[in-house]
Amino acid sequence: MKKYVDVIVPLPVVGQYTYSLPEEWESRVQPGCRVIVQFGSKKFYTAIVTRVHEEKPEGYETKAISEVLDTTPVLLKRQYDFWQWMADYYLCTLGDVYKAALPSGLKIESETLVVYNPEFESEIPLPLKEQQILDLLSNDPEQYVTQLEKASGIKLLLPVIKSLLDKQAIRVKEELKHHYKPRTEARVRLTEQMRTEEAVRLQFDKLARVPKQLALWMKYIELSGWTQDGTELKEVSKKALLQAAGVSPAVLNGLVDKQVLEVYNQEIGRLTETSRQLVALNPLSEAQLRAYTGILNCFCEKSVCLLHGVTASGKTEIYIHLIEQVLKAGKQVLYLLPEIALTTQITERLQRVFGSRLGIYHSKFPDAERVEIWKKQLSEHDYDVILGVRSSVFLPFRRLGLVIVDEEHEATYKQQDPAPRYHARNAAIMLASMFGAKTLLGTATPAIETYYNALNGKYGLVELKERHQNILLPHVELVDIKELARKKRMTAQFSPLLLQKVREALEQKEQVILFQNRRGFAPMIECRTCAWVPKCKNCDVSLTYHKGLNQLTCHYCGYTETVPKSCPACGGTELVNRGFGTEKIEDDMKVLFPEARIARMDLDTTRTRTAYEKIIADFEEQRTDILIGTQMVSKGLDFDKVSVVGILNADSMLNYPDFRSYERAFQLMAQVAGRAGRKNKQGLVVLQTKSPELPVIHEVMTNDYPRMYQEQIDERELFHYPPFYRLVYVYLKHRKEDVLGQAADLMAAYLRSGLGSRVLGPDKPPVSRIQTLFIRKIIVKVEQTASMKKVRDYLTQVQRSIMEDERFRSLTVYYDVDPM
Ligand code: ADP
Ligand code: ZN
Ligand code: ZN
Repeated sequence: MKKYVDVIVPLPVVGQYTYSLPEEWESRVQPGCRVIVQFGSKKFYTAIVTRVHEEKPEGYETKAISEVLDTTPVLLKRQYDFWQWMADYYLCTLGDVYKAALPSGLKIESETLVVYNPEFESEIPLPLKEQQILDLLSNDPEQYVTQLEKASGIKLLLPVIKSLLDKQAIRVKEELKHHYKPRTEARVRLTEQMRTEEAVRLQFDKLARVPKQLALWMKYIELSGWTQDGTELKEVSKKALLQAAGVSPAVLNGLVDKQVLEVYNQEIGRLTETSRQLVALNPLSEAQLRAYTGILNCFCEKSVCLLHGVTASGKTEIYIHLIEQVLKAGKQVLYLLPEIALTTQITERLQRVFGSRLGIYHSKFPDAERVEIWKKQLSEHDYDVILGVRSSVFLPFRRLGLVIVDEEHEATYKQQDPAPRYHARNAAIMLASMFGAKTLLGTATPAIETYYNALNGKYGLVELKERHQNILLPHVELVDIKELARKKRMTAQFSPLLLQKVREALEQKEQVILFQNRRGFAPMIECRTCAWVPKCKNCDVSLTYHKGLNQLTCHYCGYTETVPKSCPACGGTELVNRGFGTEKIEDDMKVLFPEARIARMDLDTTRTRTAYEKIIADFEEQRTDILIGTQMVSKGLDFDKVSVVGILNADSMLNYPDFRSYERAFQLMAQVAGRAGRKNKQGLVVLQTKSPELPVIHEVMTNDYPRMYQEQIDERELFHYPPFYRLVYVYLKHRKEDVLGQAADLMAAYLRSGLGSRVLGPDKPPVSRIQTLFIRKIIVKVEQTASMKKVRDYLTQVQRSIMEDERFRSLTVYYDVDPM
């Protein structure tokens, strides 16, 4: 019987596609393997097989698959189930999930941009086709696969590309700029015959008349630490040697030809095995032990447990003990952290305990590294513990026993764009349940939905109310800045009390954190004469001003221009900085405290992972006195010498027309406040606000989470919000505003005819044009008791009938399920 395969292609197309399977590959292909397929007239993609069968599709001629890339699956059965759940729940395609889940290096396609790796040197002669591609790339080191296809005349290029990727001769170009760490590094050493004192000494004379070679030789001797007593030589990297000697590779080749030096490749593996000595676990305190046993008990009955523990209560310590327990049972652990909280602080802490059993998965790591972790998880020697960010829910697991979601309240667990717009906490709970594994959610400030589930018995609840070593929670001083501003007693954005406390802290060699909410404070420029504000030409937002770069940038599409010298509207030359970004705070603090060492941590100063880690390390080691930052400073960092935390403007967090703004404000302030406090001294938080009468301010001062929760949950019930109702936002996009308007009205009407008053809108969202596309939004609110499946089916049915309408051919429709 003729065989066929169903495959997922990495495209936002609905459903799967069937290709025929040539006989010679029948024995090799199984579900989960990658194959190359032609899709459309010319393009090739890496597809994933989900089923092998003998059902000839009706009504069309099937194409054959073009190549088989794997003989063992890269996608395991449970992962595939998880993908299906995700596509279904979040109303997107399997192709969307595929694209989000696999690192680029595992899903090459015609549009992939590949880059030459100049460090690559082959041990053995390469196959002709591979050599041909490398030759093309050495002339022009960045090319699209399609370009290479044309230039080489090779019809089926993807397998060749795959082979070169496997050899690390090329890599996949990533959108973000990463520092590429080659897996092997070319190094230089003495040839066998040169490894005597005599030979080395003679070489100086022999090279006397070839000055460049002599210079290189002398540099090598210096860098390798050569001495007469024959001690072990240091390894010398080829690149470093050439740079230090200031000569070209040809000079080195000369010495290689003379058999003086030789070049070899040294693995400098990214998955470095930590050779460091492992340490034993810290014993748990009495309170921690109670929480720990509480969690274990709770797991006997429930699959999910919330650990609600105040900041610095030692939740991480409890996680470590739980992980140890799960590993002993031969199972794996996934430990999720928000992107910004996954720092060297936490990785080192875990590495000291779990050593090489721990793998780290971060979206800012180079793609090649993520590919390696993926492959390792499929191998016999997989990591037992994965510490990772949101996307690590997609990694292959076979023995998952526990998932820990730390800082579970963090909104960044939700992926905003592109699809799948999934929430990693909720996805992790689903993933765990597929394995019969447990999930632990940890935080000092639970999400309202989570706490609701815990109080109602859906999740277990374990509370930890004291900080480790009974360090006191900080004292919060309230400052009414409206009153002070009226009396003209504010210096820039600082109250006299805050300045006094900062001064005292500096005098006592203690540290200070100043927190400014990011939202609503995007710095802008404005014309002083006519109030003109620069706008993005593709989106309906004003451009953000980056003083350091003298640039204006759009945060939605990345459009950038330099700051104009004069106002294009009135010609005025006074363009002033509006908004009080962290930059402005930094400038003001530098004037007020010229002797203090000040650092700033925001999106701008932390574009690379290393920059971010450096700011933290500097602060940790007290090379900085004052750290000014946005939400980033609130994330799980553990500093020992911080005695004062200033919250500059609480109101900026509250003035949002969003049903979560109070909850968020409380979480943020409680987390930032949690950074203050030292072993033998209570920390101080100076909370500046224009609205001291607001209940949330009082709740932060008394650290009264239950009260904040009660108020919020009452409101949510009253106004039909989660957790009582589920929200689905339906977005429509089109280039033409009038066509979009028609489509949105029609869609809303269809939806209303089936779902009634659950449908609101269409409306213009706050940012109603992005990348030249206009946007409309329809809100669907569904009561908890209704069948979500029916709603989803109805949504897709309505979408299909709208899309069939000739007028709306280029309309885009997408969904945000459980939006944040
Ligand atoms: P949380 O995650 O609850 O904010 P951490 O786990 O970061 O708190 O703990 C705060 C600090 O207390 C850390 O420096 C940690 O090393 C220390 N600590 C907590 N529990 C213990 C323990 N049982 N033994 C030793 N140190 C501990
Ligand atoms: Zn003007
Ligand atoms: Zn833009």
